[in-house]
Amino acid sequence: MPCLAGKKPVTNVIVTNSSGRGNGAPPALRRLSFMTTMVPSTTPATTLIGPGRQALDSALLQLDRAADRLGLDDGLRTMLATPRRSLTVSVPVRREDGRMDVVQGFRVQHNTTRGPAKGGVRFHPSTDIHEVTALAMWMTWKCALVGIPYGGAKGGVAVDPASLSTRELERVTRRYVNEIMPIIGPDRDIPAPDVGTDEQTMAWIMDTYSINAGRPVPGVVTGKPTILGGSAGRAGATSRGVLISALKALGGSPAGRTVAVQGFGKVGAGAARYFADAGCRVVAVSDVTGAVVDRSGLDVDALRAWAEETGGVYGYRHADALSHDELLELDVDVLVPAALEGVITAENASRIRARLVVEGANGPTTPEADRILADAGTTVVPDILANAGGVIVSYLEWVQNLQACSWSAGEVDAKLRGLMEDAFDAVAAMSAERGITLREAAHVIGVGRVAETHRMRGLYP
Ligand code: NAD
Repeated sequence: MPCLAGKKPVTNVIVTNSSGRGNGAPPALRRLSFMTTMVPSTTPATTLIGPGRQALDSALLQLDRAADRLGLDDGLRTMLATPRRSLTVSVPVRREDGRMDVVQGFRVQHNTTRGPAKGGVRFHPSTDIHEVTALAMWMTWKCALVGIPYGGAKGGVAVDPASLSTRELERVTRRYVNEIMPIIGPDRDIPAPDVGTDEQTMAWIMDTYSINAGRPVPGVVTGKPTILGGSAGRAGATSRGVLISALKALGGSPAGRTVAVQGFGKVGAGAARYFADAGCRVVAVSDVTGAVVDRSGLDVDALRAWAEETGGVYGYRHADALSHDELLELDVDVLVPAALEGVITAENASRIRARLVVEGANGPTTPEADRILADAGTTVVPDILANAGGVIVSYLEWVQNLQACSWSAGEVDAKLRGLMEDAFDAVAAMSAERGITLREAAHVIGVGRVAETHRMRGLYP
């Protein structure tokens, strides 16, 4: 490993976290952590390590382990750990009472070697440049793993959408798009929904970009309403992929298997619906308002109607309440974390009783927890495989937009299933052959394909 200490950082990532972290971090993490610890001279030397930084540390550690297995040289390793572009923008927003607020927005393009950058936009108060960088990196490996011609990107705005009126939300979205306009486009970087954003957000993104371009550009964004060129099957695609990968991992009949779902948003609520349709018993669900349990099986549609009416699952009368922590630790066949990163940790991993964890969310399991689960014999279908259904159907939507055609729900679903099952089989085969976890195998395949593409293209100039 070349000694890079004291040299100027090779990335334009803007980071406020100091180091010092390297001293206590595992050696593998120390190797890559310099990549994102550019400290402006005015930054105090000690800053708390937030969840975004933890997500990025996890992503770098996973990369480092895959790079070790692949025998990548230091230069390539550094290249893969470094985002190609990283943009932080200020988003001024006029509030309903006439005041002006300014929030921070981000867009990170981690890698564009295999195709245009692709990744969601998150609206969440705690999102930061570290989290967005980690999510962009995972997108790169995910797209390579399922064999679609994209690099990885992610965007975010540090705002709580629930605290904004619809008009304020529209103004934030349009101004954010305006600020990141120079780096997005249908052949450059294509946003999609993520936490706190939805079809309506994508419609505003499409409209703002198109107005500025002077022509309709549906391919600039995916996850749009179908009336604007969205694809049949996109809304439920991530959840369908979660079910497909869970069924592959379970083997045998799904009938009667018990399922707990953390997060009852786009991914979690859809997954609960599909598990129930497949004959499983969805016994517990949580969202930010609370958690509910019914061992005889929840009525997912009734719970969804309640959550839509009241703003969350809390208070649902036909089930018992339980705590957020208790939901994760239930004795079930399948646990689907479908909320945020870092929820299964070294602290609670030994209490997870699910036989199978299927990661609807990105980064829900920390590397320490991963080891504890593996030692306990718990199978984890990793995020970059389990939740890849969303970007697969985003890709299908983009192809339809570029060709000005539209495919039926059946056609889209068949392609989604084929790509998910092929990726699962490849990961399972490598896991069995090398005696490594599904996550380790998924990263070896994803990182390996990106590394190979770099090698073939060569380094310019
Ligand atoms: P969403 O905003 O629609 O839903 C998030 C849900 O998580 C909400 O129900 C929220 O109340 C809940 N939540 C938040 N904090 C929680 C907590 N502490 N405990 C329990 N629930 C909590 O977001 P989404 O699009 O469903 O995304 C969820 C996860 O899936 C994210 O990690 C995202 O990156 C990942 N993902 C989403 C997609 C997609 O197509 N939307 C694709 C791939 C991965």
